[in-house]
Amino acid sequence: MNKTKILIVEDELITAESLSMDLQKLDYQVVGIVSSGEKAINKALETNPNLILMDIMLRGEIDGITAAEIIKKSLNIPIIYLTAYADLKTLERAKSTQPYGYLVKPYKLIDISTTITIAMAKYQEDVKIQENLVEQTKLNNLKTHALATASHDLRNPLTNILGYTELLRDYGEEIPEDKRKRYFDFIKSAVGEMNDSLEDLLLISQAEEGKLDIHIEDFDLVKFLNYLIAEYSNLSEKHDLQYVSNKEKYFVCLDRKILRHIISNLLSNAIKYSPKGGDIKVKLECNHDKILLSVEDQGIGIPDDYKHKLFQVFERATNVGSIKGNGLGLSIVKKAVELHHGKIYVESQEGQGSKFTVTLPRYHNH
Ligand code: ADP
Repeated sequence: MNKTKILIVEDELITAESLSMDLQKLDYQVVGIVSSGEKAINKALETNPNLILMDIMLRGEIDGITAAEIIKKSLNIPIIYLTAYADLKTLERAKSTQPYGYLVKPYKLIDISTTITIAMAKYQEDVKIQENLVEQTKLNNLKTHALATASHDLRNPLTNILGYTELLRDYGEEIPEDKRKRYFDFIKSAVGEMNDSLEDLLLISQAEEGKLDIHIEDFDLVKFLNYLIAEYSNLSEKHDLQYVSNKEKYFVCLDRKILRHIISNLLSNAIKYSPKGGDIKVKLECNHDKILLSVEDQGIGIPDDYKHKLFQVFERATNVGSIKGNGLGLSIVKKAVELHHGKIYVESQEGQGSKFTVTLPRYHNH
């Protein structure tokens, strides 16, 4: 384990040296001894210690408390003050900088050890609270954004459903049979659209909260892929879906629903983002314990400056034009792949096409 790095700020050389020896005896690493507030700031920036022992009364322009305030602005380092004697006003000032402890001179070895141990434990706790807070804020932002997306995504199909039901209610008798049938189909597909949007939102919020459950099953991946590809082939006449595999049968132990989500998202994106049509190659290469699956299209491709945002929620590239989407699919795919301890990456050139590759273990381990 790495030793805790400590910076000593103390203007009495003998006290500083003896403190440094005590600290080394306690198995800490002393990264520097400095004698003024100004030097403390520079040394802290230079060595980035895990802890600073700061004498309050220092000679020079600034005292220990002011130095601590300045350091706190750019670095998150716990500080323990060293004091011989301090008046009430100074102590109040010290308190306002939220130190992790005080050591009163002359120190005993046991006091140094206990104060540092407690300070470090409290600091770790604070870091954890801070991280949780950041997570929580992220989640809240996501929820707000999700709500906005949901209302936007659901309004369109709802308007269509409402329009067609009213038409059918008011003029049903007069509308020819084939037209009526088409209206019912529109309503059905609008409901399907709403269902997909809701499913996406539910999945992403479960994934973000780490609540996506895995249900492992044994199944033949080759058969499963053939079935999915056939389903998607029926969706578009402009595209030629080709399936290449080095296996005729290949049994895996994974979550079938999650896998379906991964592949159907990649397939529907491949179709959606190649509006002129073309070949879509689905390639499966597997060995005894690893799966490599890729979906390649000849579509609009992904701009280089967007690639780093590809798997982030609600992000969409600038070249999508009027192609519909909510920017959720790939972030769910990434979460789903990671849940299976796999990886996803992309190779793409704008205007040429994209190739998404997913690697997964053959058997899911919890
Ligand atoms: P959506 O398609 O709903 O916008 P996704 O999360 O599935 O959301 O994709 C995010 C973005 O990544 C898309 O908006 C698009 O800019 C880009 N993208 C995804 N797949 C492809 C692809 N096959 N070809 C080109 N761009 C793609």
